[in-house]
Parts: sequence; structure tokens; C-alpha cells
Amino acid sequence: MSNVKSVNTYAGDLRLVGGRLCLDFVNTVNDHTLEHPREHWCDYGLFLTWARHASALTPAELEEAQAVSSVHPRGAEEALEFARGVRRALYGLFSAAAHGRPCAQSDLETFNTALARVPHPLRLAAGSGGLRWGWPEGINPLERPIWAAIYSAATLLVASELALVHECEGPGCSWLFLDTSRNHSRRWCSMEDCGNLAKARRYYARRH
Ligand SMILES: [Zn+2]
Repeated sequence: MSNVKSVNTYAGDLRLVGGRLCLDFVNTVNDHTLEHPREHWCDYGLFLTWARHASALTPAELEEAQAVSSVHPRGAEEALEFARGVRRALYGLFSAAAHGRPCAQSDLETFNTALARVPHPLRLAAGSGGLRWGWPEGINPLERPIWAAIYSAATLLVASELALVHECEGPGCSWLFLDTSRNHSRRWCSMEDCGNLAKARRYYARRH
């Protein structure tokens, strides 16, 4: 069972502010620090909606995953729980990095177990936007977007760019992003959301 609260969701319209697939993967609940964060992957169908939105799978892979999930709803549920577990571990790993803390051993273990579940051999495949990870044929198509996020994370976690991962300072947000701004001064997931709220709060504080 997930400890995540379901809400009316806009999984297919979530802002992709992370700068890397793995960070956008994590940015699919509001406020990881809560015991019951607000969930946007309320069911496997919405997870796929998000995955397509975030380009974590191709249209052909989406079709296959939809077809398989309608025949194997139990498998789809398991894939969703797997995705949520990976997401929790990734939040732990990246949030620790963003705050300069050592990561929790349990998050690392969860991640390594997930990494071992990615089928081999991997290959690079031509896609419309250039090369992308290609997965072996005929192996659980329900999990492909999760593998893509795991590989994105494995790459970023050992890259020098990890130092650019930040956690939004907005209260009740906890979204992660790669700060590629010129002087590395980005504080918010997006100016339209947390940035504007912070501005409004400062304005209110001045007036009262
Ligand atoms: Zn934010």
C-alpha cells in the first residue's frame, strides 16, 4: 500500500522543471517531506500519461504498455508500486545531495536493487529526438519508463552536475531541479508557482 494521498491530478500537464528525467520523475508528488504527500500518479493509467508527457517512453512503447496493462491490471499495479518505491529512494538520494548530507543507506540499497532489475543488454536506439535508451524486446513493457528514470538517475548521481541539483525552497513543495542558471542562484522550482508565492508573501509581509 502506498502512503501517498491521491488528489485530482494533472499528471499530463505537470511542469517539467527538473532538467533531467529522473528529477521530473521525483517531482510527481507535492511535498515529499509529508507523511502523506499529494500524488499525481493516482493509478497506472495516470502514470503512463505522465510518462508520455515527460518523454519517458515512445508512442509505440506507450501503446504496448497500455495494451499489456489492460490485460494484466495486477502487473500494472505492481509496476506502479515499483515506480513509487524508486521515486521515494531517488528523492532521498537527490535531496541529501542537494543539502550536502550523506545519503541514507536504505535509499542506496533500494536504488541498487532497482538498478539490478533493469534488463540487459541495454542498447542505444534511434528516436525522433536523437538517440535514446533502448530496452530488450519482450521484457515487461510496463516498467520501461521506470528503467529510463533509473538510468537517468544513475548517470546524474555520479556526475559533477550533481552539485547543481537543488530542492525548491517553497514551503510544501520539495521539487528538485538542476540549477543551470548563470550564477547558480535559482531558488524555486518555477517562478510561476513557488517563485510567485514567495514574492506575494514578501509583499504581504511588507504591507502588514
Ligand atoms: Zn517549488
